[in-house]
Amino acid sequence: MRIVVLAGGIGGARFLRGLKQAAPDAEITVIGNTGDDIHLFGLRVCPDLDTVMYTLGGGINDEQGWGRTDETFHLKEELAAYGVGPEWFGLGDRDFATHVVRTQMLGAGYPLSAVTEALCARWKPGVRLIPMTDDRVETHVAVTLPPEGAEGAAGDGAGAGAAGEQRAIHFQEYWVRLRASVPAHAVVPVGADQAKPAPGVLEAIAEADIILFPPSNPVVSIGTILAVPGIREAIADAGVPIVGLSPIVGGAPVRGMADKVLAAVGVETTAAAVAEHYGSGLLDGWLVDTADAAAVERVTAAGIRCRAVPLMMTDLDTTARMAEEALTLAEEVRA
Ligand code: GDP
Ligand code: CA
Repeated sequence: MRIVVLAGGIGGARFLRGLKQAAPDAEITVIGNTGDDIHLFGLRVCPDLDTVMYTLGGGINDEQGWGRTDETFHLKEELAAYGVGPEWFGLGDRDFATHVVRTQMLGAGYPLSAVTEALCARWKPGVRLIPMTDDRVETHVAVTLPPEGAEGAAGDGAGAGAAGEQRAIHFQEYWVRLRASVPAHAVVPVGADQAKPAPGVLEAIAEADIILFPPSNPVVSIGTILAVPGIREAIADAGVPIVGLSPIVGGAPVRGMADKVLAAVGVETTAAAVAEHYGSGLLDGWLVDTADAAAVERVTAAGIRCRAVPLMMTDLDTTARMAEEALTLAEEVRA
């Protein structure tokens, strides 16, 4: 069985660990989000690709959900001693090596998809990991920054009433530096409209038996992948079951600040609204958490087969059961 999964970082990676256990013989292709990518210290950093690679390859800092296990931060400290930042983005010494190798290969002319394959030769994630595109796409967030002089007030969102400055900032600056604490008005995957799917992406979709949307961020992870021209269309036309799992449980994201970016695109933070946001043109099936059993009716009315099952990825076995539920729902849709 060939399964294609569109994945962001933590939610996607943890789900994939369960999927591998639930379907050990499946050929899994992961289309990874690169809209979160950022250039730091002259290096190309791909947070979501690396989270998937490290998580499935056994190198992830499990508590944190990103970055390497057994990490140190000497390089970052040395850079800071020279006054070279940013200090708000956590890059450890082990992690740095990945970005050095990636940047070196990109500089030598290899596309990101080939670089990712080379990095995975070390980590052996047990899935085929392909970036959504080899082209540069950068998610920017249109925000209102607190007025000058109110610097530092960003943490509590103060200044919203005063005349703040309208700006578009890199997603990582919004998410990591500002902790999504300033009002966001729009999320724009800059460059996506000019991007082409990376080699293998459309082929994997065309050959898939099942396509899954893990509990990844619907706006800045899966939404960004779908914004690459050709990918959404290929999925919608694949003619195979497409099943998603809600990242929203009980009206809130399980981790992170997905509610902020959902609000920015005018979608309420509920399991049902996210399903409707994808729509029945894309989704055939949708799993919500048992806490959201009341949402099943609304999702079903939207033309999407829906069921409530436990969706908290507390451990590997529980996550594998979630994956089994998704595969079962896919077979029901197919029948
Ligand atoms: P990111 O790129 O690291 O932000 O990761 P993703 O986009 O792949 O996933 C982020 C989403 O995963 C968030 O919206 C969380 O609500 C969701 N998430 C994290 N843990 C869980 C979980 O245990 N269960 C469910 N249903 N969603 C989760
Ligand atoms: Ca991400």
